[in-house]
Amino acid sequence: MRRPRSKRARAGHAARLSPKLAARYPDLRISLDWETPLELVVATVLSAQCTDERVNRVTKDLFPAYPTAEAYAAAALPALEDAVRPTGFFRNKARNIKGLGERLVEAYGGEVPSTMDDLLTLPGVARKTANVVLSNAFGIHAGVVVDTHVRRVAHRLGLTDETDPVRVERDLMACLPPEEWHAFPWRLILHGRNVCKARRPACDACPLAELCPSAHTFG
Ligand code: SF4
Repeated sequence: MRRPRSKRARAGHAARLSPKLAARYPDLRISLDWETPLELVVATVLSAQCTDERVNRVTKDLFPAYPTAEAYAAAALPALEDAVRPTGFFRNKARNIKGLGERLVEAYGGEVPSTMDDLLTLPGVARKTANVVLSNAFGIHAGVVVDTHVRRVAHRLGLTDETDPVRVERDLMACLPPEEWHAFPWRLILHGRNVCKARRPACDACPLAELCPSAHTFG
């Protein structure tokens, strides 16, 4: 099939894809372990370039050791680096998490704020993390989560011609009704992990193949 070109055609295309994705991925539980908004922010920051399983192994000990924003703010950087080392890029991540604790204490009374603008002032938090936190911790769908899977799969499916995450998010927000802003991209993530993989998409086993302009175009 052809790539849809107009906004309207993309919206119709997304509406046809949505029930197929929902049927294939009915369970939308996030695979990071967390109980409070603070734990979710920290886990999401740690999940950059790291598997959720590994993040969960690290946060099992990290969360009890640093139960509040104040605890992160007061943390000794070397100890925090050691604690998050297995997640990779540990110096950067430890610095961000300590800075995040400091910012939460200084500006938000130690609580995680619930608006996009406020979340974006936290160190290490970009739109993707902010969207994850807003939708999962607060039930607020202010935007669309765009990670590497969403970017790739949305492009292959013809929902965007862009590669820059901010533009991909803009295109998806334009073609999805707001009530889909949470579920649809999560399902694209699951589809990217399980079927539409970066190197070898399994088009033969893909429930979206008949609607996908990129189906069977990979060597
Ligand atoms: S048909 Fe192939 S390229 Fe299209 S979404 Fe499915 S796996 Fe990805």
